[in-house]
Amino acid sequence: RNGSETGVLEPLYREVLRRNAGDDEFHQAVREVFDSLGPVFARKPELQQARIIERLCEPERQLIFRVPWVDDAGVVQINRGFRVEFNSALGPYKGGLRFHPSVNVGIMKFLGFEQVFKNALTGMPIGGGKGGSDFDPKNRSDGEVMRFCQSFMTEMYRHLGEYTDVPAGDIGVGGREIGYLFGQYKRITNRYESGVLTGKGLGWGGARARREATGYGCVLFTNEMLRSRGEELAGQRVALSGSGNVAIYAAEKAQQLGATVVTCSDSGGFVVDEKGLDVELLKQIKEIERGRVSEYAERRGPSARFVEGESVWGVDCDVALPCATQNELDERDAERLVRNGVKAVAEGANMPTTPEGVTVFRKSGTAFGPGKAANAGGVATSALEMQQNASRDSWTFAHTEERLAEIMRHIHDTCHETAARYGQDGNYVAGANIAGFELVADAMLAQGV
Ligand code: GLU
Repeated sequence: RNGSETGVLEPLYREVLRRNAGDDEFHQAVREVFDSLGPVFARKPELQQARIIERLCEPERQLIFRVPWVDDAGVVQINRGFRVEFNSALGPYKGGLRFHPSVNVGIMKFLGFEQVFKNALTGMPIGGGKGGSDFDPKNRSDGEVMRFCQSFMTEMYRHLGEYTDVPAGDIGVGGREIGYLFGQYKRITNRYESGVLTGKGLGWGGARARREATGYGCVLFTNEMLRSRGEELAGQRVALSGSGNVAIYAAEKAQQLGATVVTCSDSGGFVVDEKGLDVELLKQIKEIERGRVSEYAERRGPSARFVEGESVWGVDCDVALPCATQNELDERDAERLVRNGVKAVAEGANMPTTPEGVTVFRKSGTAFGPGKAANAGGVATSALEMQQNASRDSWTFAHTEERLAEIMRHIHDTCHETAARYGQDGNYVAGANIAGFELVADAMLAQGV
C-alpha cells in the first residue's frame, strides 16, 4: 500500500471503529474495501468533499424489532429481528434475510455493506440491505417456522415494498420461509405485490434458476478467472465447503462443466467422495430430508467417507470454493491449499476467507474471486425475478440462465478491467471494491447530500 494514498482513509476508518464498537465483522468488511480505495481517492478529490465514505459506512436506516411467537409446546418465545437498509443510491434496498443464532447487528451491518458493492457490480438497479434474526430454525417444526415467519413479517411489512426494500433468502431462509413471509405480507397489506420478495416459488412469481443462481454463478465466475489465465474448469478437482443452496448448485454446475467435486461439509464435519459428489443424493438428503452430510457418506457407498469436526481445506484440489459462512477459511487453511497447488479460489459465501487468508492467496498468485463478485449471481437473478414480476412475465430456465451467464461475464470483466486500470492486474479484490464503489459513489454524488 502507498502511505500517502491511504493517509486520507486511516482517520475515516478509526471513526468507523469508534461509531461501531464491537462490530468485528463489519470492521473487517470496511477495512478490506478501504484498503482498495486509496488510489481512487488520490484521483477524485470531490469524493472527500462530499464525504462519500462517511455516508457509505453509515446505513441509511437500521431496524431492530421484537419477534414474539408461540412454539409447539405452547411456550412464548422471543427473538430479535433486524433489517439494515444500507444504501439506496442505485435502487430499492435489496438483500437476503438470515435466520441463524449468530445473527446480531454487527453481522447484519457487514452483510449489508458487502451487499451494496455486490449489487452495484451486477449492473442491475438495486441498492443494498440485509436482515434476519437470531432465530434458530434447526429442529423446529414446520408450524413453528411458519408462526415465526408470520410474526417477523407482522413487524417488517411496514418497511418493505417493491420500490422500497426487497428481501430474499440467505442462511436459514429458503423457499419455505419466503412462502410464509410472502403469505403474511399479502394478508396484512391486501396486495399481491410479487416484487416485494424474491426467491418465491415457481408457481407464484418466482424466477426459474434463482435457486441455482448463486452456486452456478460462482462456478461461471471461476471458469472466467481460469480462462483469463489460459485454463478452464473442465478436468479440475474442486473442493467446496457447505451443503446448502450455494454449495449444492456450485457442485452441480462444476460437474456439468466437467470438473470433479470431491467434498462438501456442514457444522458436523465434511465428506470426501473420490468419485465426485452424487449431487442428486445430496439434494435428497439436504433439501428434502433436511438431514446431515454424515448421512451422505453412509448412503453413498465406498467412494465416500465422513471426517468429523474438521474443515475441508486439507483436501488437495485445483479449485477451492468456500460456500459455507464468514471466516471459515483462515491463514493456515490458505497456506495448506497453496502448498497443495490450488490455482483458483472463489467465494460462494459472504467473506468466508479471513484477511490473512486473502493475503496468502494474493501473495502466492492464486486467482482469488471475492464474494461480492463471485457470489453476485444470486442477487442478480433476484433482480431478474423483480424484472419478471414488474412486467408480469415468466422466463424459461434456459433464458434466465443465459442472462445469468452474461451477468457473471460482465462482473468478471468489470473487475478485471478496473484492476488493470489501477495498475493491479489480476487483483479481483481491488477490481471488485473499486468498481462497486465507483458505481455507488457516482450515483450518490449525482443525487446530492
Ligand atoms: N443472500 C444473497 C446474497 O448474499 C441473495 C440476496 C438477494 O437475492 O437479495 O447476496
